Amino acid sequence: MECDLYIHGGVVLTMDGRWRIFDPGYIAIQHGRIADVGPLDEAESSKGWTAKTTIDARGTLIMPGYVNTHTHISMSPFRGAMEDSKDRLTRFIFPLEKAMVRPELVYDGALFTIAEMVRSGTTCFADMYYFEEEVARAADLAGVRALVGETVVDFPSPDADAPYGGIELAKRLVRNVRGHPRITPMIAPHAPYTVDAEHLKRIAAVADELDTPIMMHVAEMDFEHARFSKSHGSVLKYLDTTGVLSPRLIAVHMLYLDQDDIALAAERKISVAHCPVSNAKSGRPICPAWQLGRAGVAVGIGTDGPLSGNTMDMQTVTSIYPKMQKVREGRRDIVPAREALYAATMGGAAALGLADQIGSIEAGKWADIQIVDIDDFNLLPVHDWYATAVYAAQAHNVRDTVVAGSFVMRERKLCFADEKTLKEKVLRHAEASASTVRALLDTNPDGG
Ligand SMILES: [Zn+2]
Repeated sequence: MECDLYIHGGVVLTMDGRWRIFDPGYIAIQHGRIADVGPLDEAESSKGWTAKTTIDARGTLIMPGYVNTHTHISMSPFRGAMEDSKDRLTRFIFPLEKAMVRPELVYDGALFTIAEMVRSGTTCFADMYYFEEEVARAADLAGVRALVGETVVDFPSPDADAPYGGIELAKRLVRNVRGHPRITPMIAPHAPYTVDAEHLKRIAAVADELDTPIMMHVAEMDFEHARFSKSHGSVLKYLDTTGVLSPRLIAVHMLYLDQDDIALAAERKISVAHCPVSNAKSGRPICPAWQLGRAGVAVGIGTDGPLSGNTMDMQTVTSIYPKMQKVREGRRDIVPAREALYAATMGGAAALGLADQIGSIEAGKWADIQIVDIDDFNLLPVHDWYATAVYAAQAHNVRDTVVAGSFVMRERKLCFADEKTLKEKVLRHAEASASTVRALLDTNPDGG
């Protein structure tokens, strides 16, 4: 049989819910989708695949690409600035963005971070920021899969002079991006403390009308938790009065939850983007992700932005996720490695509403996969492929990254841009923002 791309000889972790492993296996790809996957001896004995391109994957581990469920990828020029200070978001990040964020920075920053993500096995990400059409443009050029959300806030933002200008910009984004084969537009109210109830109701109506997902930071901040606990019992109970708690909502963080909130999240069928590294760096509580999953909530993993989680490498986050859940619950036996890998792939796909399209290596799904070179010190020996993938693998082990059957990185070389140019552009934006960063640090001494 004939196909476009035939990958053979690697160990295939399908992540298809049946925990099938083909050692060694093969994948046949046609028109960007997986036409067939199975054990190699079957392909050789009975099927006889021929292909335009054949990849010898002996000595590799083949997995679905990571699905990064929450990012702000354009913030790469600011990475590492203003770290370890309290109230960082309001004192430093918001004013820095107002001063520096322009379409060119958003585009260059996005393309740079896409390169970082692709180099660590990520094939899909869900982003929220300003000038989000520039992020869509970068994802389109790079050939990766993305959900792109225009941010809505109650103050003038980098791309909207009036409060809540983001709502109209989100509508425009939906009009311009809709129908793209790899890119899905979203509306992204920033948080319950930066978007009031009246506008959350409007956003819920707009999302229904345009049939888009909603992404929002939820129950992340201690002051947010205190305020809405007092007025409504909890952040989630408050949001339930606005209409945003629906299957459209990808709720990011979800740190301050009690048992009622977990039940409510399951009942309203919202999904969760869990960002353990970014939350830990802020000294915040650990999201009850394992409990949410047990209650039936779709839980994916995210890096958050380059300022919040710093590394945009999903491997790091996927390794830390089960460890922090074990610490939280005081149990060694929960979130075994294969479930952690499931959350980083199939769980993320489900959280983003793409469960029938990506997240596993199954016939009919898009061929979004990563090929990991296992001949390295940190990966040997192998007793359990899931443990190797989750606890031992590192970003540099990823050899190839494929989205919709096309290579976006091959033999560790990016296929969509010149690496040197990407770096130079972001370094130029970083240099241009350095004086603003210094001024903010000077006028906001810690404790002040
Ligand atoms: Zn965020």
